[in-house]
Amino acid sequence: MPNNNTEIRLKPGREKSLKLRNFWVFSGAIAQPPQEADKPAAAVNVVSDRGEFLAVAGYSPKSQISAKVWSFLQEKINRAFFRRKIAAAYQLRQSAMIPQCASAYRLVAAEGDALPGIIIDLYNDFLVIQLLSAPADMMKDEIVGALLDLFPDIKGIYERSDADVRRKEGLPMRQGVIYGENPPPEIIISEYEWRLAADVVHGHKTGFYFDQRLNRKTAAMFAKDRTVLNLFSYTGGFAAAAATAQAAFVENVDSSAPALETARRNMNLNQIQEAKFRNTRADVFELMRQYEKERKFFDMIILDPPKLVDSKYHLIKGCRAYKELAMRAFKLLNPGGIIFTFSCSGLVSQELFTKITFDAALDSGRDAVILRRLAQDADHPVALNHPESSYLKGLMVAVNNS
Ligand code: SAH
Repeated sequence: MPNNNTEIRLKPGREKSLKLRNFWVFSGAIAQPPQEADKPAAAVNVVSDRGEFLAVAGYSPKSQISAKVWSFLQEKINRAFFRRKIAAAYQLRQSAMIPQCASAYRLVAAEGDALPGIIIDLYNDFLVIQLLSAPADMMKDEIVGALLDLFPDIKGIYERSDADVRRKEGLPMRQGVIYGENPPPEIIISEYEWRLAADVVHGHKTGFYFDQRLNRKTAAMFAKDRTVLNLFSYTGGFAAAAATAQAAFVENVDSSAPALETARRNMNLNQIQEAKFRNTRADVFELMRQYEKERKFFDMIILDPPKLVDSKYHLIKGCRAYKELAMRAFKLLNPGGIIFTFSCSGLVSQELFTKITFDAALDSGRDAVILRRLAQDADHPVALNHPESSYLKGLMVAVNNS
């Protein structure tokens, strides 16, 4: 059973960040770890050097972030605790009108919902959970119990604890049914005016990129009669949105054959005629060079690459890649065209990303203006006390006609 009876004692002065409600305790802040210092603990009290209670946290000895806060109150971390927190997260999605826009969404977004290490996604009547830290992993039964209390009619709960960050916590990859039925090979979800097939067993993350939902809607609002190049398309979410909104033509580009197969399925699900789209399996960088030579131009380009900066050591290299992509996109754009460019690298700030995009416009000789600043949708909330969870940044940029 998880218990709160061991303590983490901090070094003098290191209680400040917890008093500012920061969720993370770095190894360097700890004067004295819990009794069994090399074993993770589901929940321990964190106290100041003077013994003052600060928080209840999960302890992960293998991680640089040694402890992550569950609660700033002195309380038991059990099924009832998770029931209360998950219910609050559900309520927040209701307030943000997410269930009115989509049948699938992120129900719990880790620190964004004050539940570090826990991701829970709802796909119609299936839940998919991802446990990313050792303490979250130890709390699995309590979390699943809380989900069953709150969603008694759910058809199944599936675990996708196969994200790389688990290695840093010394955790094995784990995937499989936790409760109820096996999820079907495709779950058809709906978003705004379009429908999409998601494969929660084999797909990226837990099967789909919910974070781009509102940006798909924004792209759809501007897509009518435009030719759209959807780069790094994955299963073609942006393409389905744009084509449903009467884009003239949509081209999906991705290096993954299975992703493009699903993209085709998604175009069919939305009754998009064959003549209105093409799926191209290619390396985006190479294809952009080729299209530049062939002088192919588009009215709208979507650039949604995978995370290009995954550590501060790769910051410069990653920023160069973002710039190259944007520069090439500017070159492939018709006058009056629009680019939707994104970075999902947490280490690249909105300010830095704007600068990169500006440099790209300058070097490609285009005058461009920002029409909108974009971010992750509201089912990925950013706790004000945890700005690190604001990872997705985007710009909607238009090239001047003159
Ligand atoms: N825009 C998508 C999510 C993109 S995820 C959506 O809204 O759902 C990033 C995608 O980029 C993945 O599908 C991956 O297969 C693809 N990818 C990564 N590197 C690539 C490259 N160099 N060329 C083409 N596709 C690439």
